[in-house]
Amino acid sequence: MRVSQNLIPTLKEVPAEADTISHQLLLRAGMLRRVAAGIYTLLPLGYRVVEKIKQIVREEMNNAGGVELLLPIIQPAEIWHEAGRWDVYGHEMFRLQDRHERNFCLGPTHEEIITDLIRQEVKSYRQLPLLLYQIQNKYRDERRPRFGLMRGREFIMKDLYSFDRDESGLETSYQKMYNAYSRIFSRCGLSFRIVEADPGAIGGSDTHEFMVLADTGEAEIVFCSVCDYAANVEKAPCQPRTSPSAGEFKPLKLVSTPGVRTVQEVAAFLGVEPQVILKTLFYYADSELIAVLVRGDRAVNETKAKNLLGATQLEIASEAEITRQFKIPIGYAGPPGLKERAPVKIIADYEVKDLINAVAGANQPDHHYLNVNLGRDYEVDTLGDLRIAEEGDLCPKCGAPLHLKRGIEVGQIFKLGVKYSKALGATILDETGKEIPIIMGCYGIGITRTMAAAVEQRHDENGIIWPVSLAPYEAVVIPISHRDSLQVKFAEEIYQNLLAHGIDVIYDDRPERAGVKFKDADLIGYPVRLVVGNRAVSENLVEIKWRASGEIILKEKEEAINYLKNNLNKLRKGE
Ligand SMILES: [Zn+2]
Repeated sequence: MRVSQNLIPTLKEVPAEADTISHQLLLRAGMLRRVAAGIYTLLPLGYRVVEKIKQIVREEMNNAGGVELLLPIIQPAEIWHEAGRWDVYGHEMFRLQDRHERNFCLGPTHEEIITDLIRQEVKSYRQLPLLLYQIQNKYRDERRPRFGLMRGREFIMKDLYSFDRDESGLETSYQKMYNAYSRIFSRCGLSFRIVEADPGAIGGSDTHEFMVLADTGEAEIVFCSVCDYAANVEKAPCQPRTSPSAGEFKPLKLVSTPGVRTVQEVAAFLGVEPQVILKTLFYYADSELIAVLVRGDRAVNETKAKNLLGATQLEIASEAEITRQFKIPIGYAGPPGLKERAPVKIIADYEVKDLINAVAGANQPDHHYLNVNLGRDYEVDTLGDLRIAEEGDLCPKCGAPLHLKRGIEVGQIFKLGVKYSKALGATILDETGKEIPIIMGCYGIGITRTMAAAVEQRHDENGIIWPVSLAPYEAVVIPISHRDSLQVKFAEEIYQNLLAHGIDVIYDDRPERAGVKFKDADLIGYPVRLVVGNRAVSENLVEIKWRASGEIILKEKEEAINYLKNNLNKLRKGE
């Protein structure tokens, strides 16, 4: 490929619309253009990256026994009604009507459609197991599409669905996908972690997320410094880090704290540590008012609170609502006497039990209590693990300290069980002729998201640093002077030679200054840059520069080809 024949509109300036590194760099490197909010065109270079990710995914899915098919983007409402999700999906679903006013949606996911297929075509246990997958566009009408490809309204996913006759079959399918996903992200040359995650609203039991590590990632994960334990902070169980203190209960004391509301303000005003303050937060769990108590230095884990309450929805109560219910200004709520002001269920984190002589809001304006004690001054309905795991919490597997990192979720595997097969009546007959529901799993990889995550993880101030396996081209050839016919002839030869040896190379033959081409090469992030200058003509020497390490090597032309062939071959496998 010649740059002069391609469309690679690189930009010098950072576009104002771009809110993350990957979004900025993919726009600047001429790989992506915005069409509407959350909707993008992949330009030729960006498309090549996506195709390379798809190819790796496809190979590993096929190796694991997956079979590819293609389900429709447009899905009829009836099947969604049958599974009970048409109404609950809400505004995230793009809905449309045909000329006969029949309802359809643009598929946000494909569980319904594929279960419908299977219930019609699979009748016997002999036809299972099946692993069916597709690589397809998905549509979600995000309220606030942002971060470029990271949270778009149209995106490309690989989704595989497993169909088994029993739990042990599901376990085998799940393990196959777990291993295939590990190989995929290794081959993509990305640093990632596999974490235990919360099943959330999809229903089901086991689930793992594949997280590409990046400081800019929106998800927080904890992982063990010793064993292989890793989990989403939402999922990681927390042991109390307090020990029950044997201190005596001091008498409850009302103190004036005018205008002092937040934990930080109270701590500073009273000269106490945040961990002796009782933080009281209010939520609605499926319309029931709930107070959640945690130590002042901890954060409430809403997922754990929701699970503990067995609620389907948990929403933070508004300031106005709290004032209306309890007749107290926000910031002065505390557990003593709270239940007398309004009906409220109080749940508390385990650590609260060990707090002796705590500080809490006094349920009256501008006042707090000192020496608040559970059992004497207030009761709670339930104690549980309600906080978010932090750096230094202990590994639930081996007890070593956990570390915190940020990541970007690029894949998730999920044991669905019989949720969809039961709802849609996808059953088989077993050996005894008994009708049983098929056991399902679903397994997704965000293809376009993986591309963005790779950029978030691998870039510097000059641009993207693609892993060889994902790069739009593995190498770029640049003659220093496009006017020097000997240099051009030499560059052309080495370009043809690289092509002949199976190296994925692009030739920057534009009539531009070398400096412009160097800048573009760094911005786009080709792993290897070959520069043909005067020494090429006089001494047969080519300059090879590795984008990732910055290492520069001079090689004779023939030697250069072999050197690159060997090194790129290793790097293509993600080594
Ligand atoms: Zn551990």
